[in-house]
Amino acid sequence: MSRSAPTKIEAVLLYYAIGQIDEPSELGEWLASFSRECLVGRVRVSREGVNATLGGPMAALEAHMLRARRERRDVFAETEFNLTRVGDEETARVRDASLRRETGFDAYRWRVVEEIVTFGRAPATKATSIRRLKRDAWDAALAKPESVVIDVRNGYESAIGRFEGAATVLAPDIRSTSDFASWLESAPIPDGAPVLAYCTGGVRCERAAELIAARTNSAEVAMLDGGVVRYLEQVERDGDDGLFCGRLFVFDPRVSVRARKPVGSETAAAASACAACGSGPVHDYCSDRRTRRARCETCRLLLLVCDRCSTTTGGETGRRRRPLACTSCAARRR
Ligand SMILES: [Zn+2]
Ligand SMILES: [Zn+2]
Repeated sequence: MSRSAPTKIEAVLLYYAIGQIDEPSELGEWLASFSRECLVGRVRVSREGVNATLGGPMAALEAHMLRARRERRDVFAETEFNLTRVGDEETARVRDASLRRETGFDAYRWRVVEEIVTFGRAPATKATSIRRLKRDAWDAALAKPESVVIDVRNGYESAIGRFEGAATVLAPDIRSTSDFASWLESAPIPDGAPVLAYCTGGVRCERAAELIAARTNSAEVAMLDGGVVRYLEQVERDGDDGLFCGRLFVFDPRVSVRARKPVGSETAAAASACAACGSGPVHDYCSDRRTRRARCETCRLLLLVCDRCSTTTGGETGRRRRPLACTSCAARRR
C-alpha cells in the first residue's frame, strides 16, 4: 500500500444484488481490480449476492457502476445503484481520518462471506412475494392507523431517526441484524395487520420481509423499495418534508444524514437521551464540536452522548465520571 494522498470522498455508492453467484471470489477480485486504487469502503460477496458501500470521487464511482452493470449483466442487470453526493454538512466528516478508519473507509476492502446480511439463517432469495412500495404508496400506507411499521435496523440506528405516522411503529432495540429473527418471535403484531418493513438501503428488508411474511399472521407485507436512502432522495425531488424524521444513520464516515423533518414524537425523543446524563434528545453520534464517537466501554456498542458529557466522560478534562455503559452492560454491573 503506497497511497500518497487519501481518496477524496465526493459521493457514496450503495448497492446490492441478490442471485446465484457460482464464483464469489472471482467476482470480488474482478470488482477490486478496477476499484481498489480509486475507491474506499466495503464489498461483501457471497454465493447469494453482493452488498457494497463505497466512497470516492464521483467519476470513479460512476465508472465502477457502469462497468459492473455492463460487464456483469448476469449479476447486476436489475440492481439499483444508490449514488449520493456528500453534502456540505458532511464534508468535514468524510475528511476526518479517525472516522474513515472507524467506518472502514480508509481503504478498499472486499471479502467472501456466507451471507451478505448477517441473519444467521438460510441464504437469501429475492423477496418475490413482498410488495415494494415507493414514496407515495409508502406514505399512504403509513397514514393508516391499522398498519404496523417495522424498523428492521439496529437500535442505535433508529435512535436518531425513524418514520413517524398514524401507523404503529416498532423499532426493536436490537444490536445486530442477527437478533432480528428472535425479536420477531414475540413482536407485538396484531393478527391480520398489514406490515411495512424498512431499512437503510433495502438489503436487510429482502430477508426481514420474507421472515415477517413466514412467521407472523400479517395480512400483507410490504417493504420500502430502495430503503430510506431512496425515500429521502424522492422527498428532496418532491420538495416537501416526507415522513422520515431526524437523521438517517449510515455506515460510512458521514455517520448520518439529515432528513428535512425533525423527530417529533416523545417515544422517539426518549430513545435518543444522552447515555451518560440522560439529557436529550441527542441528535447524532458526532457534532460540529467532536468527531469521536462514544461507545460502551465493555461491549463497544455505539452510544449517544451529549457534547457536555463527551468531554467529561472521555477523561479529557481530568474530571472522569463513571465509565460509559450501554443499558445491558450497566444492568449486568448492578
Ligand atoms: Zn450528557
Ligand atoms: Zn455494553
